[in-house]
Amino acid sequence: MQKSEFLRITPDNLYIHIPFCKSKCHYCNFISFANKNEFIEPYFAALKKELEHYFKNYTGVKLETIYIGGGTPSVVDFAFYKDIFKLLADLTEISKNAEITMEINPGAVNFNYLKNLRSLGINRLSIGVQSFDDRLLKIINRAHSAKDAVETVKIAKKAGFENISIDLIYGLPCEAGAYAQKGNDEFSLQGRAHSFQTSENWEESLKQALSLDINHISTYGLKIEENTEFSVNPPENIPDDELQSQIYLKTIEILEKNNFNHYEISNFCKSGFESRHNKAYWQNKEYFGFGLAAHGYLEGTRYSNTENLEKYIINPIERAFENKVSETAKLEEAIFLGLRLTNGINSQEFKIKYGVDIFQQYSKIIGKYLNYDLMVYENGNLKLTKNGILLSNSIFADFLE
Ligand code: SF4
Repeated sequence: MQKSEFLRITPDNLYIHIPFCKSKCHYCNFISFANKNEFIEPYFAALKKELEHYFKNYTGVKLETIYIGGGTPSVVDFAFYKDIFKLLADLTEISKNAEITMEINPGAVNFNYLKNLRSLGINRLSIGVQSFDDRLLKIINRAHSAKDAVETVKIAKKAGFENISIDLIYGLPCEAGAYAQKGNDEFSLQGRAHSFQTSENWEESLKQALSLDINHISTYGLKIEENTEFSVNPPENIPDDELQSQIYLKTIEILEKNNFNHYEISNFCKSGFESRHNKAYWQNKEYFGFGLAAHGYLEGTRYSNTENLEKYIINPIERAFENKVSETAKLEEAIFLGLRLTNGINSQEFKIKYGVDIFQQYSKIIGKYLNYDLMVYENGNLKLTKNGILLSNSIFADFLE
């Protein structure tokens, strides 16, 4: 073995993308397909080829996190994962304390399936609940009910999962007048009839989430993305930015009151249950990414795979995009990813990792936001204030050259 191979720092985080779903949600622009289950078998054969090919170049990989996302990974039979985990165990070392997450959807799994996943070492579930209101779930075309979500959390616990996260979306639309017709204040906003999810309705979803006694919650405001059903047939009366911001601030207040630490813009957890995998992204660490449309970051190069399913199956080795990250871009990425964490960026660690004094390099921009109270420097950490978080996208853009 050559000296350089000893010195190579290999990433310890791995992402695998599974692009199959039961149906397509109206807001979803992820690379996922509802009617292509006949491709599952060749897809997994291609995935194995890709894993084998790239891990040939990496010796001594010890994985600390594995994240199987999608799509809906749980629409795929357990046997395929058994195969993949066997291969991963042959090609790498999976740390004894690794955090191994799989995304699942309510109603798409049963006790035996979850028990089997647990037997592979999968120890964290991220469940796409989105709402506890069946009317809203129907409008966004989710393939499950609120009851399914509650049931799925119950059987997941029974199957031995102690680390459970759920995703929720706020700012959802509903049928015009549906809530207003109820004729009570519960669904009215400042006395006006409306046709979108109210903050009261959202708070009810949060209450139900809290009653499930889980340890991680991710919350996202609805965005109308390109290439989605909602972009073709936009729902009426999506809550405006101001209401979305109010709901977001209320979410922080409620979850913090219930012992959830707001550790990232969209993520909350009980003590010790931060997503280690996602934190690696926010800390700008390198990681392996495999599967259709997967992104990765290796040896200073960001890459992504093709988004074309047939093309991927024919040639899973070919990268669709590769970009050596410049020194400037590295700093910018470290800043806009690091500022997503509520603990922000430690200026000392930044200097050690990138050899640059963040205050010298970005004095003008940082000075401006400190003056506006959109950023704060506390105990060596530069972070966004709550108002800064509300304007985070513009602040991040300011750091880009
Ligand atoms: S289940 Fe997830 S990946 Fe699949 S269509 Fe819905 S949001 Fe997209």
